[in-house]
Amino acid sequence: MKTFKLKKEWNWVLIVLFFALSIFNTWFGLLGFLCMGSPILHALKGNGRRHCSRYCPRGSFLGRFMRKISLGNTLPRFMSRKGFRHFLLVLMMSMLSLGIYHAGGDWHKIAFTLFRFMGVSFLFGIVLGFFFKGKSWCAICPMGHAANLITDIRKKAA
Ligand code: SF4
Repeated sequence: MKTFKLKKEWNWVLIVLFFALSIFNTWFGLLGFLCMGSPILHALKGNGRRHCSRYCPRGSFLGRFMRKISLGNTLPRFMSRKGFRHFLLVLMMSMLSLGIYHAGGDWHKIAFTLFRFMGVSFLFGIVLGFFFKGKSWCAICPMGHAANLITDIRKKAA
């Protein structure tokens, strides 16, 4: 239990490492697939949002650092609505898919697309965490929302 807690507290290092390595060498951007795929895989395996509660480096970063500088406001009500989370999920997945499509099969460009996508969403999460509660991003995060949707579908199908 102690080891698990220690790991969770230090997961944020991975997202810092991801950006540092991707700036150094764009190919590391492909690791973004891992970050985005893990919440989906856990949900598909029936583990719900285990990725969020145990492993997510982004969530770990926001939880650890934004708390200290956050203005702590509550998210505007429209952002807490399911419709908004659906909208953001579709918007972000469409943007990513378009980026990958325009890469035309060039994996180097795909890596850069992922790096850019991860970077923009990370910055957005930080800005959100500054003006609102530190982990506000997690309330609207497309991957967390997708994991929720998959979990709901699994429960209904069971
Ligand atoms: S909601 Fe998103 S950012 Fe937050 S912990 Fe889950 S996957 Fe990570």
